[in-house]
Amino acid sequence: SINSVIQYNNDKSAEFKLYKQLIQSEKLAALGMLASNIAHEINNPLGGVLAYSQILKKEVPSTDQIYSDLDEIEKACLRGKNIISNLLDFSRDSSNDGKQLVSLDRVVKDTIPLLNICLKGHKLNVNIEEKDIKVNGNLGELQQVVFNLITNAVHASGDRGEITINVSSNDGNANISVKDNGVGIPHELLSKIFEPFFTTKDKGKGTGLGLFVCNGIIQEHGGRINVLSKVGEGTEFMIELPLWRE
Ligand code: ADP
Ligand code: MG
Repeated sequence: SINSVIQYNNDKSAEFKLYKQLIQSEKLAALGMLASNIAHEINNPLGGVLAYSQILKKEVPSTDQIYSDLDEIEKACLRGKNIISNLLDFSRDSSNDGKQLVSLDRVVKDTIPLLNICLKGHKLNVNIEEKDIKVNGNLGELQQVVFNLITNAVHASGDRGEITINVSSNDGNANISVKDNGVGIPHELLSKIFEPFFTTKDKGKGTGLGLFVCNGIIQEHGGRINVLSKVGEGTEFMIELPLWRE
C-alpha cells in the first residue's frame, strides 16, 4: 500500500551522486555563511524592537487596543527570533562539537515533555527496544531532530492524529522513526521537503527550515533520513545512525 519511498540524496550513478553532493555541500556552505551573517545583523535590531514593545506594553492597560497591537509586534519579533535561531543552529559549524555517548531512549523520552503544548487529542505511541541503544552524538541536536519530526507529524495529522515513535537497532544501525496518520506528502514534493525554506504551511506557521536542519544534523552524525509517505494515509520519517561502538 506504500507508493513512494525516497532516499534523500540518493541517485543511481555514483559519479552523478558525488557531483550532486559536491554542489549541494558548496551551496549549503555558502548559504550557511550568508545565513549566519544576516542572522547576526538582524538579531540585534529585532531584539531592540522586542524589548521596546515589551516596555511599552507595561505603559498601557491590557484592555487598550494599543496593548493588543503591541502584543502582535511582540509575537512577530519572537517569531523572527525563532527563525534566526534556526538559521544560526544550521550554519554553526558544529563538526567538532563534543560528541558523546547518547542513549536514544533519552533522546526520545526527554523530548516528549517539550511537545505537550502542541499535542492535542493526539495519540502518541512510543516503542523503545528493550536494550539500551547508544550512538555517538550530540544530545541537544538529536532532540531537536525528534522534536521537529514530531511537530511536523502533529501539524500533518489534525487534532486526533496518531503518532508512533519507534526506536530500534539492527546490524550496525540505530533507528528512530516517527510515523503519523496525517495528510501525507505528494510524490512530487518528496524531493523538495528538505530544501531550506520549502514549506506548504500558511504564512506564520511554517519556516521551511525544520527538515533542512534535521537533515544537516543527521548527516553530520554520519546518518541519513528516509521518508515513506502516502497521500491521505500518512508519513513515516526514518532516521538511521551508526551504532555506538566501544
Ligand atoms: P515547516 O514545518 O516549517 O513547513 P519543514 O522543513 O519541517 O518545514 O517541512 C517542510 C514541509 O514538508 C512541510 O511544510 C510539509 O509540507 C512537509 N512535511 C513535513 N513533515 C510532514 C509530515 N509528517 N506529513 C506531511 N507533510 C510533511
Ligand atoms: Mg517543521
